[in-house]
Amino acid sequence: MGAARSYASVPAGSWSSPCPSGPPAFVFDIDGVLIRGKRVLPEALDALTTPDGRWRYPVVFMTNGGGVCEARKAAQLTEWLRAPVTADQASGGGRTAQGLDPRVVILSHTPMRDLVPELADVPVLVSGRGDVLQVARSYGLRRALHTRELGAAMPAATPFTKYPPAAAEKENARSQPGRTTTNTTVAAAADTGAPASSSSSASTSSSSGAGGGEARGSPASSANGADSSAPGPGPDPVRDLGLGTEYRDAQLIIDVLTGGGVPARSPAAAAVAGSPPVKLYFSNPDLLWANEFPRPRFGQGAFAHMVLSLHSRLTGGGRPHHVTFFGKPNPQPYRLAERLLLAQALRMGLPLPEAPTGAGPASGADSGPTARGPPFSGIYAIGDNPAADVRGANAAGAPWVSVLVRTGVFQGPGPNCDVDAARIAVDDVADAVGAALHHTRSHRWHSMR
Ligand SMILES: [Mg+2]
Repeated sequence: MGAARSYASVPAGSWSSPCPSGPPAFVFDIDGVLIRGKRVLPEALDALTTPDGRWRYPVVFMTNGGGVCEARKAAQLTEWLRAPVTADQASGGGRTAQGLDPRVVILSHTPMRDLVPELADVPVLVSGRGDVLQVARSYGLRRALHTRELGAAMPAATPFTKYPPAAAEKENARSQPGRTTTNTTVAAAADTGAPASSSSSASTSSSSGAGGGEARGSPASSANGADSSAPGPGPDPVRDLGLGTEYRDAQLIIDVLTGGGVPARSPAAAAVAGSPPVKLYFSNPDLLWANEFPRPRFGQGAFAHMVLSLHSRLTGGGRPHHVTFFGKPNPQPYRLAERLLLAQALRMGLPLPEAPTGAGPASGADSGPTARGPPFSGIYAIGDNPAADVRGANAAGAPWVSVLVRTGVFQGPGPNCDVDAARIAVDDVADAVGAALHHTRSHRWHSMR
């Protein structure tokens, strides 16, 4: 691949790699970069693999989507990208029949594994589509409970939500409200809807009959609000707006937050009981994401706004005591990516220079093993969402290099985003890879002068 067809770049003098002699590394966003709706744009990865199918450089796929476990996402990517690529240590980073190594996939909730030591044995209420409950349990959250289970155990709490007959969900036996006692932690880990996970999560939930509202409402389906199962006379405003699942989850999350972990308890009673504050985690702050619809769609960030706004209205302006957002542009996935890229580079046997002390990210608290700074000439973060991908990479500091493409959320005007300006702005992922490799070569050349 030659140089990029066109790109805008921030002046080189404003950026310097602490490790110009190190190899480059690549972090790909998925939705809007490699995939849009049902279209796949994988050819760019060819420039990063050798003729015999090895990665030339460390690569991580990092998305604010989720709702599936990392292994399943790796299998999906293997299929979508039509190339069984892996960073398997045995093959030194080659392609194998097993496909993509799950260790190079970071989903919105992957960094939440770090919560497990604290939350493994406390009740955790999980909200979201897809397999979020299985994901939480696979991480080691042994007392995780999904909102559909909690809602089914006390249907009057969410009167506009349909639940399957009691016999259909034996799991409900484990979800009596009494189990949700003090110190419940609410983890709102919704999926923003990666292409395959949104369709698979919709089918998963509809086959379980949980609520009937898991599928993201397309313009057509939300306009088609007639539903013979709507309770009571007249239109059901919740179902007409296509808010079934979000309504249920917002209601239950706020019940648990304001009830000090007991959804049926009043805030006053919770205060008398001296219940510790319930912690609230969101796996993804994206307000918008891109699918095949011409304009960006609401993501989990919209749901978070809804929950926090409702909480504020109900409590006279209060914000939950403890709210944490994971997902880009927050730092957790970037620190995790650095660790995974470094581990991959070591498995690949790449020569790594010693990174200078203090070259690492500005925030030392969660720098972990990479406190000395990842030994890469650049970590090219290729994304379509300025508020997530670009802002996050810019905040992560050197050697991160933000690369913005125009195949997703960002559509202009102009070649770059005014608010969150990428270091490199190009048309698509193929140009992004070309520009990144060009940037690496020129940066190395300048550093040797
Ligand atoms: Mg994206």
